[in-house]
Amino acid sequence: MFKKTEETKVLRDVIHGYIHVEYQVIWDLINAKEFQRLRRISQLGGVHQVYHNAEHSRFTHSLGVYEIVRRMVYEIKDIHDRLSEEEKVIVMIAGLLHDVGHLPFSHAFQNICPVEHEQFSRDIILMDSDIHCILQNISTHLAKQVADIIDYKHENEILNQIVSGQLDADRMDYLLRDAYFSGTSYGKFDIERILRTIRVRENKIVVKESGMHSVEDYIMARYHMYWQVYYHPVARSFEHILFMIFKRMKEIYPDESYFYNLDMFTPFLEEKQSVRDHFMLDEHASYYGFGVLTRKNDQILKELALCILDRRLFKYDAYSEANETQIREQLIREGKDPEYYMIVDTMSKSPYSPYDGHNIYILTQQGEVKELSTISIIVSSLLGGKIKEDKKIYYYK
Ligand code: CA
Repeated sequence: MFKKTEETKVLRDVIHGYIHVEYQVIWDLINAKEFQRLRRISQLGGVHQVYHNAEHSRFTHSLGVYEIVRRMVYEIKDIHDRLSEEEKVIVMIAGLLHDVGHLPFSHAFQNICPVEHEQFSRDIILMDSDIHCILQNISTHLAKQVADIIDYKHENEILNQIVSGQLDADRMDYLLRDAYFSGTSYGKFDIERILRTIRVRENKIVVKESGMHSVEDYIMARYHMYWQVYYHPVARSFEHILFMIFKRMKEIYPDESYFYNLDMFTPFLEEKQSVRDHFMLDEHASYYGFGVLTRKNDQILKELALCILDRRLFKYDAYSEANETQIREQLIREGKDPEYYMIVDTMSKSPYSPYDGHNIYILTQQGEVKELSTISIIVSSLLGGKIKEDKKIYYYK
């Protein structure tokens, strides 16, 4: 059913050494225009404002996820033996395409656009797109199966877990890759050890007890990456300004004449985006749009766009009511509407949350399958402690 390429194609990768492609369909999907668009979507939104090397794209991350899936289905014997060739290829495709619907600026857009990127990924795979045609030409069932894995509802649960469980190809790639590109060491963990110790029991991906320490390390890596990289206040500041730009554009959108030359944004202001609109809006188009805003006459949009383009980010402080009142009054004195120039946010992150249906399981030496926190001292103490919270106020200065 799946044609092989004449010889294995390889793409060099800073994390995995090489990405190996043996199936023509994978190669064709990589070359599809919807997948190439991911070169114009950054992996980390505002994080490059703190860690300047972190400019890598969703394209490189998606290839990395594909490569980890490929290794999981070929190198982990329990998985290899349980999957047909067709299932192996389908799950590799799902890994490759899991982020194909991503909007610009990582997750910053989630607050702006009510449609989730998973929904766009699904639409691109199932509807009118080059990717859909490539899948459809092989088999009429293929697109649906790939979309089901991305939705975590494929009937073969192993396939769902490989792409998005708790110890999945997506997270393993982004932690390693984001750590590398941010130049930090927090995200490193021993992926080789984890892959070597993965087994399948009771239709679950489990890790042998001898690999538990590398899993603990992976959980700590995730925790530190969230606080040191993903939730860094400078990155959040950048993302808040983006949010304010869209909030302001929505406010004046009824005046369509204002949006001449800004048609990449308008479907998102109307909240009725099609796959085609989605395709138009990448980060290059967005930055062009911010430039256009600086030459138009709305003072707020002009200023906020310059904040993004010239990196004049919002300042931030620990939140207190007194602080908020004082900042609000100061902004008003300066003639700045606090609606657009000030925002409060609270971030919190638990290192690992069991019992939400996506647990990590350990295969004990006695052959029992146990949820990680019931046998790991490190993880159970992390869960017993307080969940870290960070409430800050961001404002224009
Ligand atoms: Ca991803």
